[in-house]
Amino acid sequence: MAEFTMELNEEQKEVRDWLHGFAADVIRPAAAEWDEREETPWPVIQEAAKVGIYSLDFYAQQYFDPTGLGIPMAMEELFWGDAGIALSIVGTGLAAVGVLANGTEEQIGTWIPQMYGDAGDVKVAAFCSSEPDAGSDVASMRTRAVYDEAKDEWVINGTKTWATNGGIANVHVVVAVVDPELGSKGHASFIIPPNTPGLSQGQKFKKHGIRASHTAEVVLEDVRVPGSCLLGGKERLDERLARAREKAKAGSERVKNAAMATFEASRPAVGAMAVGTARAAYEVALDYATTREQFGRPIIDNQGVAFQLADMRTAVDAARLLVWRASWMAVNGKPFTAAEGSMSKLFASETAKKVTAQAIQILGGNGYTREYPVERMHRDAAIYTIFEGTSEIQRLVIARTLSGMPIR
Ligand SMILES: Cc1cc2nc3c(=O)[nH]c(=O)nc-3n(C[C@H](O)[C@H](O)[C@H](O)COP(=O)(O)OP(=O)(O)OC[C@H]3O[C@@H](n4cnc5c(N)ncnc54)[C@H](O)[C@@H]3O)c2cc1C
Repeated sequence: MAEFTMELNEEQKEVRDWLHGFAADVIRPAAAEWDEREETPWPVIQEAAKVGIYSLDFYAQQYFDPTGLGIPMAMEELFWGDAGIALSIVGTGLAAVGVLANGTEEQIGTWIPQMYGDAGDVKVAAFCSSEPDAGSDVASMRTRAVYDEAKDEWVINGTKTWATNGGIANVHVVVAVVDPELGSKGHASFIIPPNTPGLSQGQKFKKHGIRASHTAEVVLEDVRVPGSCLLGGKERLDERLARAREKAKAGSERVKNAAMATFEASRPAVGAMAVGTARAAYEVALDYATTREQFGRPIIDNQGVAFQLADMRTAVDAARLLVWRASWMAVNGKPFTAAEGSMSKLFASETAKKVTAQAIQILGGNGYTREYPVERMHRDAAIYTIFEGTSEIQRLVIARTLSGMPIR
């Protein structure tokens, strides 16, 4: 097990500086354009693929870094550049993690390369769990997967919503109900290979922020996939369902909550994205406050402005520490006895919303215009308290974990 450290090692610092260079030179200058266009920034993804940032190798290297700091460091730098573009770059990684975590070696080897494509022909992937009537309440999911034993195929029907890269992805990972009696324990994940008949894109959403990231509904009508597309395979699924049925019969509450550990482990990554956006806005505000003069002196000479900057920086650093702690715990298999993963996501995402609003205030009228990046950062920051579990759901998880009570 790696010791918890608050310092990046030499190799990590090199990677961080390389990512920061890409974020500053390629992502940040393109941010306003793709925000206005509200389209996937394919040329930027291509650039990222050329230099090796958009690749499974890079993502896996950070993911398996034993210090746990690889992913948060990478997310912070890329999202410092721009949240919408960065999500277009890392969105595939989020879907790939689903395969890495639950897939067989063969599935990992077959599908993950197709999720990324190659530098000359980049592809993206989507992870589709949310539905119109199943957002926070994942257990009420209705998309159904039925096994056709004669053909060794799964038949999937339903409508997914809010899918990042939904409909434009080469490979979709879809979560569906295989046993409706078991709530979220009766779910399984499926690979939908490229060009599978029956999968189509529904509405593409016009959003408040992260507009360079494509978000859409995904409609599944009699989608047939081979048995080999069930992540983890049929044998493992049957064993898991049998265990869940036994626990359900015994009336164990644990059945409902067992899935939580997975979310705890993935939430710090979203916290790190929020830290990147918050830090970016803080830096713009600090720079502005030291150069903008009113009443014959820089506005930072006023305590009212300087104290805001002190609070902003304190919050950003505190958020990063919570994120790094939770990420280290996840990688080293430490139990989340106080829902530390949720804590990190809650605090970092609320910090991003607050700090970006403070940055607009410090920039005054300029902060409110699209000539300066902080209004975009503020719009972007609003997503962090919503996706991967809203702030209310994080509080619910933390409160339940601390109290052991089924708080509603
Ligand atoms: C831009 C974007 C990208 C996304 N990308 C993906 C993706 O790639 N894949 C995917 O599967 N999903 C994705 N999502 C979906 C996202 O995870 C959901 O939006 C989120 O889980 C919330 O669900 P909901 O929108 O249905 O809100 P609801 O669950 O309807 O919540 C509405 C409000 O009620 C509150 N609330 C609900 N239940 C409780 C409760 N028990 N206690 C207190 N308050 C409660 C919520 O906190 C929220 O404030 C994305 C969403 C967006 C906006």
